[in-house]
Amino acid sequence: MLVRFPPKVDNLSELKDYQLKGLQWTANHAYNNSPFFKGHFEKAGITPDMIKTLADLEQLPFTTAADFKDGYPYPMLSVPHEDIIRIHASSGTTGKRKVLCYTQKDIDDWLDMFCRCYEMANLTRKDKVQICVGYGVWTAGAGFQMACEKFGAMAIPSGPGNLEMQMTFLEDFGTTVLCCTASMALLVAQEVKKRGLKDKLNLKKIIAGSERTSPAMKNKIMELLGVEEYYDIPGLTELYGPGTGLSCSASENLHYWADYYILEIIDPETLKPVAPGEIGEMVYTTLSKEAAPLIRYRSRDLTRIITEPCPCGSILPRHAPILGRSDDMFVIRGVNVYPSGIDTILSACKTIGSEYQIILERRDDGKDYMTIRVERDEHSDTSADEESRCWIYDQVRQKVMVTPIIEIINYNELPRSERKTKRIFDHRVI
Ligand code: ZN
Repeated sequence: MLVRFPPKVDNLSELKDYQLKGLQWTANHAYNNSPFFKGHFEKAGITPDMIKTLADLEQLPFTTAADFKDGYPYPMLSVPHEDIIRIHASSGTTGKRKVLCYTQKDIDDWLDMFCRCYEMANLTRKDKVQICVGYGVWTAGAGFQMACEKFGAMAIPSGPGNLEMQMTFLEDFGTTVLCCTASMALLVAQEVKKRGLKDKLNLKKIIAGSERTSPAMKNKIMELLGVEEYYDIPGLTELYGPGTGLSCSASENLHYWADYYILEIIDPETLKPVAPGEIGEMVYTTLSKEAAPLIRYRSRDLTRIITEPCPCGSILPRHAPILGRSDDMFVIRGVNVYPSGIDTILSACKTIGSEYQIILERRDDGKDYMTIRVERDEHSDTSADEESRCWIYDQVRQKVMVTPIIEIINYNELPRSERKTKRIFDHRVI
């Protein structure tokens, strides 16, 4: 099959040379064209000519979300205004939005990356792609849609929500690929089940983005919709938007497009790179981004690099699914807890469903308590509750090192959301 969006290099040693050239270009470009970066480099005592090898990346100072907010409305701008052809912004749940500028080349690069995702997920021009993600100033709708058109498949821009319309489109247009968040995919899947539509659909693949997903939730979605392929797509607004990598059919791990950016994994406390394969925070440096380059941008997302080559044969490196955010991590009774650890345990329990909440509270005795509220699986009855409760209790105590309170409630009692589902409720006054 003709590969239309291949890696820009043939092997890993070429990739290193390619990344070094991109890093040097980015350092020079940012230093010479952005007062922010110039000042940032000067404070750290660095000039771009000091970058001689890839290891020299570590000398460059980090950037953070605060730099985006301080530079509002055009943070990190490194081109003249007339070269900007579009802006996007993050959803801005707290304070000012992060605004991102794009040149024509930035948009072209983004779409090429995104088309590589569609290609890796084995789409063809015959596919009909229902895009139920947010349209507007954020990156999701524009990214999924423009790339779908460039790729040559048929886009159905249905947007988020509106289950009634989604059901009609799925059936009438013969949708083959569903693009959405995992939370939205679950809502769609449950609606399909409720209406008994599964056998009338032509759905083959799901491309789900920007949300940490447990294996149980993924399996539930695939089972209810009768699809065999489920791909995770990462989507960080600061790094173009969605489409900068994809999980392949070989495993749940994600290939990332290392010919467009360097991914470092650092210890969020010491800020030093972790050993290969260890969990840490994802830090991004772009190689060819013009309008708003990223240099050692701390994303707060946690993952680890997969060091073994992928059986699918792609030379592009891989990281594990996102395990949570370094600011999602919570501390209870002196123990650092990553919500993904609890996800993994719950996913292994067959008598409970995929939805859960973690509630943290400080009681009158002055101690902190962690309650895990889970739904009973829709096919189980209350007779299995005691056994499930004991099993989850033991597993959490052994693996997470915290003694939990386990509550099992009826199926469908926890709220579902078409965006990201909130699962952690910290009621402690700290
Ligand atoms: Zn692979």
